[in-house]
Amino acid sequence: MVYNFSAGPAMLPKPVLLRAQQELGDYQNSGMSVMEMSHRSSIYDNIHHQTKKLLKELMMIPDDYEILFLQGGASLQFTMVPLNLRQTGKVGYIDTGVWSKKAITEAKKLGNYVNILASSQDKSYQEIPPIPENFPDDLDYIHVTTNNTIEGTAYTKIPKTGKIPLVADMSSNILSNDYHVSDFDLIYAGAQKNIGPAGVTLVVIKKELLNRCSESVPSMMQYAIHAKNDSLYNTPPTYGIYMMSLVLEWLKDFGGQSAMLTYNQKKAALLYDYLDQSPMFSSPVKPSSRSLTNIPFVSTNADNDKKFIAYAEKQGLINLKGHRSVGGMRASLYNAMPLEGVQALIQALDTFEKEYNNQ
Ligand SMILES: *Cc1c(COP(=O)(O)O)cnc(C)c1O
Repeated sequence: MVYNFSAGPAMLPKPVLLRAQQELGDYQNSGMSVMEMSHRSSIYDNIHHQTKKLLKELMMIPDDYEILFLQGGASLQFTMVPLNLRQTGKVGYIDTGVWSKKAITEAKKLGNYVNILASSQDKSYQEIPPIPENFPDDLDYIHVTTNNTIEGTAYTKIPKTGKIPLVADMSSNILSNDYHVSDFDLIYAGAQKNIGPAGVTLVVIKKELLNRCSESVPSMMQYAIHAKNDSLYNTPPTYGIYMMSLVLEWLKDFGGQSAMLTYNQKKAALLYDYLDQSPMFSSPVKPSSRSLTNIPFVSTNADNDKKFIAYAEKQGLINLKGHRSVGGMRASLYNAMPLEGVQALIQALDTFEKEYNNQ
């Protein structure tokens, strides 16, 4: 057995994998796997709508929002957001790290109308920058990355943007906290971190934004077309959507988002508390900006980082290597990571540190 700390694709809940295994070859006596079903069949239709229903319930999505299952990952949303939402004004971005920077790069390819409203680049992205109280009113939307997967920072307070639509890349902390959907106008997330396997991208969009898009935009890139066709304009990633429904059922049984938030806070606090008192390991992130789901940390030098990663691997604690752009270690504690995994990691850190001190 291993504990998988990967940032994504990430570990899935064991009960979900076991159920998928049971149903793999014959879904509910249909004689078929979900993978083999027509996306227009009534049996698949039930899965499709059950997944939407669970999302609506768990995220408390208001009726004036549409739920879309798309493909192309969060990365395609970097292009779809400006293509669909930009009208004649400028668009605002808050630059909090590698992923927000990529979103900015893609928006800039479409036109010279991108405003950077705040950035923590000068702080090596180790904190969320102060957010302006007021924004220029010619902005067609403002884009934030709620959780910065690589740098390990997260917003604790969602910016108030008034009439300007707020767009959030929530790929690495969707369903792990108790954000209110009504504080946002568009939320997107690749599924592979916290809601299922790679291949599905979830978009939750306020219906009034659907008619902003020009007819000349390619059909597959238009939210309105996907919405009108209930995410069945073309073949959706059916198996990924089915897996998502199993993860959502598991989350519902767990007690939903707020129970999960409490659990995630407990897991993260254990690790941060350990790091903050350790003479050998530490978190580089400013305490008020720390993520609950991605926790980067370092030892005293790169050589010890490497030794620790190898040591941890032998204990079944895998994928702890930090992102290639920042080095060190990173523990991703998504919803599926049990408390026991975090306890095992702390045990390994502590033993490694003691052995090192005795040398
Ligand atoms: C992983 C990640 C992405 C990229 O997701 P893909 O589905 O691989 O395109 C974008 N934004 C954030 C915050 C991420 O964590």
